[in-house]
Amino acid sequence: AEARESYAAARPRSAALHARAREVMPGGNTRSVLFYAPFPTAMQRGAGARLWDADGRAYLDLLGEYSAGLFGHSEGRILAAVKAALDSGINLGAVGERESELAGLIAGRFPSVEQVRFTNSGTEANLMALAAARAFTGRPKTLVMRGGYHGGVLTFASERNPVNLPIPLAFTDYNDPEAATRDILAEGDGLAAVLVEPMLGSGGCIPASDAFLRALREATRRTGAVLVFDEVMTSRHGPAGLQGLTGVTPDMTTLGKYMAGGMSFGAFGGRREIMAVFDGHRPGTLPHAGTFNNNVWSMAAGCVAMGEIFTPAVAAAHYARGEALRAALNTACARSGRAMQFTGRGSMMTAHFRAGPITAPYAATAAEDGLRELFFFDMLAAGIYLARRGMTALSLAVTEADGARFLAAVEEFLAARG
Ligand code: PLP
Repeated sequence: AEARESYAAARPRSAALHARAREVMPGGNTRSVLFYAPFPTAMQRGAGARLWDADGRAYLDLLGEYSAGLFGHSEGRILAAVKAALDSGINLGAVGERESELAGLIAGRFPSVEQVRFTNSGTEANLMALAAARAFTGRPKTLVMRGGYHGGVLTFASERNPVNLPIPLAFTDYNDPEAATRDILAEGDGLAAVLVEPMLGSGGCIPASDAFLRALREATRRTGAVLVFDEVMTSRHGPAGLQGLTGVTPDMTTLGKYMAGGMSFGAFGGRREIMAVFDGHRPGTLPHAGTFNNNVWSMAAGCVAMGEIFTPAVAAAHYARGEALRAALNTACARSGRAMQFTGRGSMMTAHFRAGPITAPYAATAAEDGLRELFFFDMLAAGIYLARRGMTALSLAVTEADGARFLAAVEEFLAARG
C-alpha cells in the first residue's frame, strides 16, 4: 500500500491522463497488458534505451516494448528506412520490391522456413498458420499448451479461460514429454496442428526442455500433425531462433515483434508444400488477405532490421549478453537467500518469487503476487521500467552499464524487501 501511494503521488499527470482515458476506453487503455493499479505510468518520449514519462521522470527501458523494441527507440538506420519509404508513397495498393527481400532474409535465417507470408501482428500470423495447417491436413483440431500465449484472440491460459477462438482445441501440459506424446497420439488423425512457444513468453519466460520439443516433433511426425513453433518472441534468441539453438525443426514458424524494426509486423512461414496452400497459381487456394500485410514502412524497416542491424553475429552476441546478465542476477538472488530468481533465455527474462526449478506455469500465491508488485514499484522508483509481471526484454541499446544498474537495483531490492 505504501509503495502504491508513493508511486501515485509522484505521477499526477499519469493519474489525470488515466482518469480521462477511462471515460472513453474501458479500463483506460487499448492493450489490457498495459493496465495495472492504481493507474499505469503514461510514457511521453523515448530515445535509445531511455524513456520519459508524462510527469517528466526518466527511466532505463528494460521492457523493450515486450520484445518488439529490440532496436531501442528511434534507431537511426530504422528511422531513415521508414522515412525513405514514406517519402515514396504510403501504401501503393500493389506488390512492392521490398517484400521478397524481407521474405528472403527471413527464409535464410530459420531452418523451418522455406516460404513466408506477412501479416500485421503475431496474432494474425498464428491464426493464418493454423488455417494453413488445417487446409494442408484437412483436419480440424489444434493442440496448445496450458499457459501458452499466442496473441490477443488466442489466449489459452486453460480450458476454463473464455477463448474467443474460431477453431477447436485440445490442451496439454508444458514441458511434460510423456503427457504431450500421449495427448497427441490420442488426437491421432483428427489433429491438424500442435502450436507451441519454445519458451513461454507471457507465461513467465519459461524455456521448453529440448526433450519436450523433441517429443512434440516425434509425436507429430507419427500422426501427421503440423508442428508450429510460435517464435514471435523467441526468434531473437541467436541467429536462427530457438529452433536453431535446440536443433528441433518445426514444420511452420510464426514471427513478429521486433522483426520490422518496431513497425507493426507479423509473419508465418514453413515448408514449401504447406505454404503452397496460398499459391494463387493453383486451384483451390486458401485466401490470405490484409490491407497492411505488405505496408511499405514495415517492409522497408524490416529489410534494414534483419539485413543490416540484427545480423546473425549480433543476434548471437545479444543472446550471450542476456545469458550473462541473467546468471549474474541469479547469483545475487542465491547469495541473498531470498526466494527470488530470473527465468528465461538470452535477452528475455522474468522475475519469479519462489525457490526451486520453474518448468511450467503455476498459480502464484498472494505472497508471491505481493512481492511481484513491490518489485515492480521499487524498480520504477529506481528509474527502471519493466513489465508489471516482471518481464524484461533487453534491447540492443541497453549497455553493460545499464545491465550493472539493473543488477544493483535488484541487489538493493533483495536487501530491503526480499
Ligand atoms: N505469440 C507470442 C509468443 C507473443 O508473445 C505474442 C505477443 O506478445 C503474440 C504471439 C502476439 O503478437 P501480437 O501482439 O503482435 O499480435
